[in-house]
Parts: sequence; C-alpha cells; structure tokens
Amino acid sequence: MSLQKKDFIFQDVNKLKGVGKQFTKYLKKKKIEKIKDIIFNLPYSETDRSKISKINEVEIGKIHSLRLMVKKLSFPRIRNLPNRINCEDHTGKIDIVYFNSREGYLRKIYPLNKWIIVSGKVSYFKSKLQITNPDYVTSLENQDYVIKNIPKYKLTKGLNEKKYRLISEQVTKNLPQVDDWLEESFVNSHGMLNWNNAIEKLHNSEDSKNNQSKSYRRLAFDEICANFITLSENRKRVKKIKKNKNFRKLIANNIIDSLSYKLTSDQIKVLNEVNFDLRSNKRMFRIIQGDVGSGKTIVSLLAIANVIESNYQCALMSPTEILSQQHFKLAKEIFDKENINIEFLSGKTEPKKKKKILEGLKNGEVNLLIGTHALFQKKINFRKLGFVVIDEQHKFGVKQRLDLADKGGSNCDVLLMSATPIPRTMMMSIYGDMDISKITEKPAFRKKIITLSKPEKKIDELWIYLKSQIKNKNQIFWVCPLIDESKILDYSSAKKKFDIVNKIFPGDVGLIHGALKKEEKDEILKNFLERKINILVSTTVIEVGIDFPNANLIVIENANKFGLSQLHQLRGRVGRGNKQATCILLYKESLSKNAIKRIKILKNHDDGFYIAEEDLKLRGFGDLSGFQQSGLKNFKFANPIIHNDLFKLAERYVKNIDHKINQNRYNFLLKLFDKAEIIHVQEV
Ligand code: ADP
Ligand code: MG
Repeated sequence: MSLQKKDFIFQDVNKLKGVGKQFTKYLKKKKIEKIKDIIFNLPYSETDRSKISKINEVEIGKIHSLRLMVKKLSFPRIRNLPNRINCEDHTGKIDIVYFNSREGYLRKIYPLNKWIIVSGKVSYFKSKLQITNPDYVTSLENQDYVIKNIPKYKLTKGLNEKKYRLISEQVTKNLPQVDDWLEESFVNSHGMLNWNNAIEKLHNSEDSKNNQSKSYRRLAFDEICANFITLSENRKRVKKIKKNKNFRKLIANNIIDSLSYKLTSDQIKVLNEVNFDLRSNKRMFRIIQGDVGSGKTIVSLLAIANVIESNYQCALMSPTEILSQQHFKLAKEIFDKENINIEFLSGKTEPKKKKKILEGLKNGEVNLLIGTHALFQKKINFRKLGFVVIDEQHKFGVKQRLDLADKGGSNCDVLLMSATPIPRTMMMSIYGDMDISKITEKPAFRKKIITLSKPEKKIDELWIYLKSQIKNKNQIFWVCPLIDESKILDYSSAKKKFDIVNKIFPGDVGLIHGALKKEEKDEILKNFLERKINILVSTTVIEVGIDFPNANLIVIENANKFGLSQLHQLRGRVGRGNKQATCILLYKESLSKNAIKRIKILKNHDDGFYIAEEDLKLRGFGDLSGFQQSGLKNFKFANPIIHNDLFKLAERYVKNIDHKINQNRYNFLLKLFDKAEIIHVQEV
C-alpha cells in the first residue's frame, strides 16, 4: 500500500467529490471531519428498496420503489400550490409532488410517456395516492443504484440519505487495501475479520447492528487496543528515571509502634510495594485501590514518613476541605513526636498565613503540606518535592492525572488512592497507565454493617429506632432519594424530608444538598462531626472518605433507584468505628426483579470489588458511578460486558507487543482512534 493511498483515510471530507462548504458544515455537526469518521459512522439500519412494487399493492406510510409511466406534469403559478406529476402503472395511478423544485429540472427527470423508477414514502391525500419529494428518481437503466437495500445512517438536518450515500459509497468503494496491524492468523483464530473486510461488511450488511458479528468484534478490538496502547505509552512517559530515595524506615517504624492497632497484611503488602517504588530509580505512578474503610490513609502517611526521612518534601491532597482537615489532624497526631513540620493549605487559608507557608515550602522548612486543590496553584514552589499523594482520585480523568504527575518535577513520585472498586475487566481501561495496589482486607475488629430493607410505608416505625440510636450516642445519616439527574428535584425532596425529621428531632438535624456552597457544606459537616447535630439529611452529595466515627446508622430512601456500587459507597459512610453499624434500605412497594437482586446482594456481601462486578453485570458499564471522566467514555464501539473476552484479550495482546518494531502499524491504529502517535524518545 502506498502512503498516499493510506493517507486517503486521514484526509478531510472536503477532499471527496461533491462535498462543498455547506456539506462540510453539516457533516461537522455529526462530528464527521475526516474521511475516517465516515468509515466509523456505521449504519444503524437499512432501507429496503430492493423490490419494485405495483401501485395497487402499496402500503400508505411505507417506502416503496415503483416503476412508473410519466403521464402529465403540471406547474401551477399560484403560490403554495405544489408542482405535480401524474404517473401510473398497469395497476393504478399515483402523483409525485414537489414543493420548491425547478420546472426545468423536473422536466428532465420526468420525461413524458417514459418509464422511470421512483422510490419514496407513499402517502394518501384527498383520496389520491402520492409521493412527496421522493428520495430517488432514476431512469430504468440506472435502477440498480436504487433497487436494493440501502444502509441507513444517523444524520442531521441538511443531510439526507441520498446525499450522504454519495460520499459514504465513495469512501467504502475507494478504501485502500490497508496493511493490517493485526496478523491474519490472530484475526482468524479470534473470530474477527481483517480490517478491510470488516469495514466493508459493517457498511454493507446487518453486521453493524450485531455487536457480536465478526466485523463488529474486529472494530471493538481495535478500539480497545488503541486505548490500551495509549495508556501504556502514557505510563512509559510518566515512569521516567529519577533519583532513588534512601530511608531506613526509622520514622515509619516509630509510628507503627505507636498505633493503637496492627496493620492488616494487605496494608503491609501495599506499603512494601510503595516503598519499593520510592527506592527504585523509576518514578512511581501508582494507585491504591481499597474499599471504604480499608485503611488507605495510614499507608500513605507511612510512605510519606519514609520520603521525609530521605530529605524530600511531600504533599497530600484531597478533594474537600473537611477531608483534608481530617488528614491534617491525623498527620499532626502521628508525627507528633517527630521533628516534622506539617502545614495546611486550602482556599480558605488567610493571605498572611499563606505567605508564610509558601516561604516555608520554598526554603524547605515545611516537610509536609496537606490540603485541597489549592496545593497545585502555580505560585506554589517547593524546594525539594519528592512525593505527591492524591486521595479519592477517581474523579480525575486520564489527562488530569498526567498533569498532576508532571507537576512535581522529575524526582517526584506520585501515589493516588481511590475507594471506588472497579470490576477487573475495566481496571486496564481506567488505570492502565498506572501500577495498581489493592487492599481487599478490612481491619480485623471491624464489624460487618447490618443491612436491612423496609417498605417505605412503614417509615413511622423508624422514628422510635432513631430515638434509641441517638440515646446510645449514635449519629444518623438520612439519604434522600435520587429523583433524577436534576439537582433541583433532589433538593426539594431532601428539604421536605428535613422538615419532617426536624419536627420530630427539633434542632438536631442538618441538611446537605448539591446547591450549597462548598463552605456551607463543610460547616454543616463540621457540626455533625463535632456532634452539634445528630442527624444529617442529605442528597447523595456527601463525599466518601470522611471519617464520622460516631455515625452508625444510615437510612437510604428509595434504595431501588441507586446502583449497587453507589449503595455500597453510601453504606460505607457508617461503621468506621468499632461499634455495630446498620444500614436501612427503604423501598417503594413494587420492586423490580433487578432491585430485589440488588438488595439481596447488598445484604449478603460487603466486598466492594465483588459488588462492583455484580453491578456491572446488572446495569451495564455506562452507569458505573463516579467514573464519568475516566477512560470509559472513550469507547464508542466496545462494551466491557458484551466484549468482555476482547478486553481480556487486548490486555494480554498489548502487554506482549513490541511497540518499537511495529511502530508504523500501531500509529495507523492510534491515528484512526484519534490518539497521539507514538514517538519514541531515547531515555536518558
Ligand atoms: P479509607 O481506606 O477509606 O481511606 P481510612 O484510612 O480513613 O480508610 O481508615 C478508616 C478507619 O480505620 C480509620 O479510623 C483508621 O484509623 C482505621 N484503621 C486503619 N487501619 C486500621 C487497622 N489496620 N486496624 C484497625 N483500624 C484501622
Ligand atoms: Mg480515605
């Protein structure tokens, strides 16, 4: 294949015949800008024009292809009256009707007393059959162009089937024979087609509608690989050579000795993995995945202790003020006896104080900076930053992750933490650019949260229970139903609930919802944390991660509206201390089968990873909560549930390919899916 031909695929659409300025504009609206975008715009159905019907057999409202004799053309000069062409065949009469069409043009395509082919939707008007603005009109010689199944594409205003077909056929017919980036034997043995055949079939058969067809599987596999290769390239980019850190774990061991609990074996394992990275001469880019309450914070603080011992500064960032404050407090406690300088920085820090902190960072007096996004403002300069930890990171996308990794400079290791377990098959799609450490074990003494379900109409029985809980010094979360995507409706339901609960427990209730400002939210959470109020009514806005040691009851209304993972996350807000915690799922009377299943799974399981797998099976990956920004939305064709085997296959495949040898081929693949091409830089 010559380069010129291969380049055809990546040319702009206006290189095609018949695509002018206006057409280009319309195509752009459908995000079709390059010829490859036409290749990837698959038909969703077909229009059957394959049979020539007789007039006496047509069905009103259906598309028909007719062979007609042109009998008479009339062009009334009165405004609003259409041009009309009377036609017939041996079985009846039909009118073809045009609004705004030029007389000369119509006379040309409708020659009097000649047979022609007309294809379009048949209607009935004033007791006459007619076709208004037919899709196709052609001579008998050219009927093969029309009398067939014609692929149907999703189009926008300004683009009709006929117009779009002109270009899509130009593309599929002129497709250059591509030097396939996959070996033939591989393609055959995994039930796929080679690239050219796959594209050809997707546009000219029912294959595009069947996501398990050989051609569709091929496209899905390409897409998955393009994503995985990109992530693994990112990973190489981030994991550059750095100076290794030297420490003897002196501070860390002191801290471990002073803890009131023993680390779990998973915590020890993960800490060792992190320490190994710190001591190595490649930058760390690692994520700790661990269920809510599995004890990730202490692991990160122990790693921080090691980095400080090796004479580097550290930064610990989390998404909210209150969570950052909690980390700050904990760090102060555990580093109490060590000679370590810890500072807190957020958007709320006073300018005077901030100035002092910035100085301390610059001259190296501050060893550890804890705070919110404010940590990454431009004007903040560290003297010797060696380690950045980011908590609850699942909200960030791949791009932001890369930015964060770049912030610290060349000797800075990066550790992320996430409490949202994700199914095994999606691990690579979401975190393929990082090394992954998992904490699955929970601290030993922790009691399993008791999960109950109750129909909503018995809500009155709950008040007595709530009273007894408060008497026992337990605090309560009350999560209001998720009504739909609208924050306003969620708010109004939460407000109503607040009024009801506040009547029963006057002055003891707080309300949190999405429309509150961050500071207002933090204030209420603080009141709850300090036990100034005992009940917190909220929409689903509360961050996970905050430790509320006295919150031991959570009531979740309309629980059937939530997905499994989300319910598990919500439930994880309680039961962080050593008292028994309870979660009550309230539901409306008529539960779907699926909802019953979900409630059952929650009652019987508390392993977030298992629950995430089940969630994926029940709901599909589009709904996986909390990953809106992640790599998942990059998939247009592949679906982790339906193409589960392809995801696994791609993971193995990408691990074993040698990018250097096959660079050209992979670059073709990456370009197809709008990924940056691989440019190998000599490592220094
Ligand atoms: P998460 O992984 O959700 O961030 P945290 O780090 O906030 O969890 O830990 C939750 C609670 O568990 C904290 O109060 C912490 O002190 C406690 N904890 C952490 N590790 C252990 C352990 N090995 N044994 C007992 N309690 C622990
Ligand atoms: Mg946490």
